[in-house]
Amino acid sequence: MGKTVLITGASRGIGRAMATVFAENNYHVMINYLKAEREARLLEQELTKQGYTVAVYRADVMQKAQVTEMIATGEKLFGSIDVLINNAGISQFKLFTEISEEEWDTMLNTHLKGMFNCCQGLLPSMIHQKKGKIINIASIWGLVGASCEVPYSTAKAGMIGFTKALAKEVGPSGIQVNCIAPGIIETEMNEGLNNMEKKQLKEETPLLRFGKPEEIAHLALYLASAEADFITGQVISPNGGFVI
Ligand code: NAP
Repeated sequence: MGKTVLITGASRGIGRAMATVFAENNYHVMINYLKAEREARLLEQELTKQGYTVAVYRADVMQKAQVTEMIATGEKLFGSIDVLINNAGISQFKLFTEISEEEWDTMLNTHLKGMFNCCQGLLPSMIHQKKGKIINIASIWGLVGASCEVPYSTAKAGMIGFTKALAKEVGPSGIQVNCIAPGIIETEMNEGLNNMEKKQLKEETPLLRFGKPEEIAHLALYLASAEADFITGQVISPNGGFVI
């Protein structure tokens, strides 16, 4: 049986690109989503039609019971889950003084509790097998902070700290934990930016453009591969030179 990857938030954007690239590289792919049922099913159809083995599973990563059920389903279907990509995410652009307690909790729970739930759910079997790869999708804003994105920057910085600590703890069990901290990538997440803001951000980027979801997907594929077995606890930031 081939290897299996579980990608959270794979109905759209970067997650969708990762699902496609991993399927094209002989992984069985478990596509998680929360609301975008139609997009997730279309992706499943598209990949299945090409002969790839994929499964779609709706689960809110914030809810431990739903994550536990999703992992049990994946292990039943595919034998084991070898790679976990914590990618599900949300963004919000708001002054710090105007953020509600609920918005703060939702931001942190989506990124941090989601990652906690998925890692705790999968690690016992990875430790048992003495192998596994965990890839956490953070952001440049977790490295340098973004004005009007305090909760998002906090959550992404938390993902970076989590990656480093967990890498130390589970390294002796043969498990690698790494973090990708992308710059601005062309997905629906950035649809709120107007044309002037997009132009300015591109001008501030040495490579003068935004990244493509596929560029993140190929980096994740490399980190999941045996060629990257000596890489753990690292934060790799594909950002066009925006943060150097
Ligand atoms: P996107 O297009 O908005 O997609 C977000 C995905 O996350 C969707 O599939 C969504 O599922 C899923 N999701 C959100 N909350 C969820 C939950 N509670 N449980 C399960 N799934 C959930 O975003 P993207 O740009 O691809 O971003 C993917 C990741 O990269 C995020 O963690 C984001 O913070 C990070 N990132 C993005 C950029 C960028 O510029 N785009 C830059 C740096 C980092 P449904 O649609 O089904 O609800």
